[in-house]
Amino acid sequence: MESGEQAENNPGPMADSRVRRRPNILITGTPGTGKTTTCSLLADDPSVNLRHINVGDLVKQKNLHDGWDDEYECYILNEDLVNDELENLMEEGGNIVDYHSCDFFPQRWFDFVVVLQTDNSILYDRLISRGYMGQKLQNNIECEIFQVLLEEARESYAENIIMAVQSDTIDDISRNVNMLKEWVRNWRPRNQ
Ligand code: ADP
Ligand code: MN
Repeated sequence: MESGEQAENNPGPMADSRVRRRPNILITGTPGTGKTTTCSLLADDPSVNLRHINVGDLVKQKNLHDGWDDEYECYILNEDLVNDELENLMEEGGNIVDYHSCDFFPQRWFDFVVVLQTDNSILYDRLISRGYMGQKLQNNIECEIFQVLLEEARESYAENIIMAVQSDTIDDISRNVNMLKEWVRNWRPRNQ
């Protein structure tokens, strides 16, 4: 009884709700840079034990948007609805979040932010085979040329948790997935 009381009074860092037991990772980058491929490979490894959250899919499935944007040919994401939907999962930890934007998520959610980057001509071919054309194709290529996602990450998260990595080839994918697995293995809980 006494030891139980003591445990209640002094629960230790692991019982603190602000301490995540599992890390949250954000994988961001221009569409076509390989976010979903990278996240799927990482989440497929049971020893890593991360939940892949594809924000674009979630927005469609749960209607977390304010309609369709004709100019950019995509859903107009409702940031509040998305963040409300994700809050509990992110507090729990153990997520790998896959999205081509990152400035509206709470900064405290992420322990590691990885920005995927791809050579323009390679990205161009990937977007063409995905059926992108005209303004949408051009916007995405410019997004990559001007490193928009890296800038957005730098404006939204601490420099020391951001890593930009190349994603041109299959070898790059393997190297990035292995780096992420190693990072997850070495991660330890600490006060947020
Ligand atoms: P994103 O989720 O960032 O839009 P995807 O993971 O869907 O990108 O990848 C888009 C396409 O490009 C897919 O066909 C995928 O197989 C291919 N791809 C992505 N990254 C690489 C890479 N590093 N090497 C070779 N192919 C890749
Ligand atoms: Mn994707």
